[in-house]
Amino acid sequence: MPYEIDETHDPKLESWVESANDPKSDFPIQNLPLGTRVSIDDDGDSWLSVVTRVGDMVVDLSALAASEIIPDEDDEWAFFGVDAIAADGTWPSLRRQLQQLFSRDDSRLRSHTDRDEIVMPAEEVGLGLPFFNMVIDYTDFYASLFHATNVGSMFRPDNPLLPNYKHIPIAYHGRASTIVPSGAPVRRPRGQLLPGATIADGDPVFGPCKLLDYELEVGFVVGRGNERGSPIAIGEAEDHILGMCLVNDWSARDIQKWEYQPLGPFLAKNFATTVSPYIVTMEALAPFRTPAMERAAGDPTPLGYLTSEHNTKAGGVDITLEVFLSSAKMRDSGAEPVRLSRGSFKDMYWTIGQMLTHHASNGCQMQPGDLLASGTVSGPTRDARGCLLELTWDGDPFASPPKVVPGTQRTPIKLPTGEERKFLADGDEVIIRGYCEREGYRRIGFGECRGIIEPAFEG
Ligand code: CA
Repeated sequence: MPYEIDETHDPKLESWVESANDPKSDFPIQNLPLGTRVSIDDDGDSWLSVVTRVGDMVVDLSALAASEIIPDEDDEWAFFGVDAIAADGTWPSLRRQLQQLFSRDDSRLRSHTDRDEIVMPAEEVGLGLPFFNMVIDYTDFYASLFHATNVGSMFRPDNPLLPNYKHIPIAYHGRASTIVPSGAPVRRPRGQLLPGATIADGDPVFGPCKLLDYELEVGFVVGRGNERGSPIAIGEAEDHILGMCLVNDWSARDIQKWEYQPLGPFLAKNFATTVSPYIVTMEALAPFRTPAMERAAGDPTPLGYLTSEHNTKAGGVDITLEVFLSSAKMRDSGAEPVRLSRGSFKDMYWTIGQMLTHHASNGCQMQPGDLLASGTVSGPTRDARGCLLELTWDGDPFASPPKVVPGTQRTPIKLPTGEERKFLADGDEVIIRGYCEREGYRRIGFGECRGIIEPAFEG
């Protein structure tokens, strides 16, 4: 069933947490994303609790349940993770109750003696990975036609798109163990690299990646799984999705170029993937749905199992996505991060419903806590390209689509300190931000997905 726009999206709703009423806030009470708090006591023991976010404040739902301000008779959400909230269908009702609790005129929590144990300034709370601090499994798609065309043009100028692209959502299985929360440092990987353009120029060596890149992606999280052997119908796909988050799929381009054939990405991708701290739920995203990207005349119609009226009319999501870069020198000199790109998730060729349906179409079991990422989100214009590989291009990066000029050098990005970047340097911080805006609705956002590059291990 589609997620409906209802009274929980009323733009006039305001909170007694004043920072939530700031029109620029990512977290008005129309949003109420889910995250996971990691608490550590003086003995070093740690525990997890589910949180939501209102304005500048984090709300600990376990502490809220203990206060019994909102009845939680069956302990449905107090002591279990986000996965339990998602899988058992508790969330829509809990979201409504939370919205009421934080509404301007509701005094139950505002004047409660336990308030300071439940509602805390966000900067004082440690957050882990949003899905109860672990990801069950991770798959990365390749769903942007613009990204696939741009990257294909570099490697195969005469034949940028392979014949399967417009028929099948392309993906590979990633590695859940190296998914890290926003703010965790990312160590430059080492790997096999060719010293020249091809093997004819010299045998591979082992050393630090020289062409380190980010990939701007959007993730979506499975809330309800399927039985092994039993596919998910396209008409029900979104019922299985809890919500969305921001993802940075760090990529070692030199390792990738040498290793990717014939089986696809491996060590170039699985050294780190950064995820933003909150899952913005599908309920909150309802006002920001868009038609699936229109297919050009002559493009194939997707096969029946990937087609539905809802998917065509409202399978897309309009999320504005921005990437910023800050070098160590910029931070030392107090310079603001520079924006590298700005695009929208509505420009994806394949929808989240199609990606999930295709993933389970062979009977593959999806489980609560699975993270599926979209692949690099790139748009039709240069300033909407979601990675440095596309932004600095070999040849003319300002042409659209980019013009391939064999043998030319990459065009670097200039930073306010006078530094230049073709790829990431040690100390660089990449910051991804995402938000949804639509006339007549409150803006909601995803917060930030951040990571700083650390030098490679000596070897
Ligand atoms: Ca990727």
